[in-house]
Amino acid sequence: MQTKLIQIDSANIDRNDIKEAADLIAAGELVAFPTETVYGLGADALSPEASKKIYAAKGRPSDNPLIVHIARFEDLERIAREVPPQARKLADAFWPGPLTMIVWKNDKVPYETTGGMDTVAVRMPNHPVALRLIEESGCLIAAPSANTSGKPSPTEASHVALDMDGRIPMILDGGAVGIGIESTIIDLSEKTPMILRPGYITKEMLEDVLGEEVCIDPGIIASDSMKKPKAPGMKYKHYAPKADLVLVCGETDRVVAEINRLTAQKQREGLRVGVIATDETLGRYRADSVMSIGAREDEDAIARHLYKILREFDDLNVDAIYSESFATPRIGQAIMNRLLKAAGHQVIQI
Ligand code: AMP
Ligand code: MG
Repeated sequence: MQTKLIQIDSANIDRNDIKEAADLIAAGELVAFPTETVYGLGADALSPEASKKIYAAKGRPSDNPLIVHIARFEDLERIAREVPPQARKLADAFWPGPLTMIVWKNDKVPYETTGGMDTVAVRMPNHPVALRLIEESGCLIAAPSANTSGKPSPTEASHVALDMDGRIPMILDGGAVGIGIESTIIDLSEKTPMILRPGYITKEMLEDVLGEEVCIDPGIIASDSMKKPKAPGMKYKHYAPKADLVLVCGETDRVVAEINRLTAQKQREGLRVGVIATDETLGRYRADSVMSIGAREDEDAIARHLYKILREFDDLNVDAIYSESFATPRIGQAIMNRLLKAAGHQVIQI
């Protein structure tokens, strides 16, 4: 299959381009498109056949449900068995935006889309191209991240092209995304709201709006937890770079010294080593390739660059990567959640 790559100007969306993409979605085909979090791989969410194509293109396990993207709040009412009161409050505060809500589904939503679950994940993305695509197609669009299963999520159209070229008919290139990590997922299907995946919208932000306690899925907190994560996708070793990745946590000077020591050791074994540094520490490492993820105080930049850096190390053919850790105040939990998974929870604490 030939994959058409279309440049699309978010500020001035070309009607013909979006129509061509929307027609593909309406015909049950796949289109990759930008959202504010990461690029999505979209298909008609209410068509079992269309959803199945997403799993095939990504190589995604069939028990890992898809997020349904909508452009109007009423579309949530169309597919939910009932809309919990918290959903309205959260939508008023955060939609369109990087928050996914889990609610009980009705019969319109096929089990192919929900990975066999009786609940459905729903989000209204805050990106003009995504919203126009949903509106013009007349569909609700099921869309997981547009990467091959197990690869870092794509934050640029070129990442999508590397993974999906020849597998899908169209990619809409709307430039680099703004946030760079996937949406926060909150489960509203039970009495107490629960975060199943940390993201840009934090527990504190959710609690402020809801005026009640929000808990965090115990299954995502510790790697060695006996509890299974409630979001099936969180149990997989996602976002794994080809090289062995190890996080080094602690006070900066000691982290730099330890990473340099470990690097020298690997290099003596004839291995090539990469380091994920910050603007502040970039010049202090002696490795085969050193990349800065951004300034340490700029957590938005760190989130935005994370997946791109992991992909760039894949291209550099390093054997091992050492990374500083980024438990920053606001979205640090989300950043560390992704990084720990990429590292298969290999952490050195000093
Ligand atoms: P992605 O779209 O690639 O960011 O992946 C979607 C994430 O949402 C995965 O981790 C899924 O397991 C999770 N998810 C989707 N639907 C549900 C649901 N009904 N219940 C729990 N988790 C879900
Ligand atoms: Mg994903």
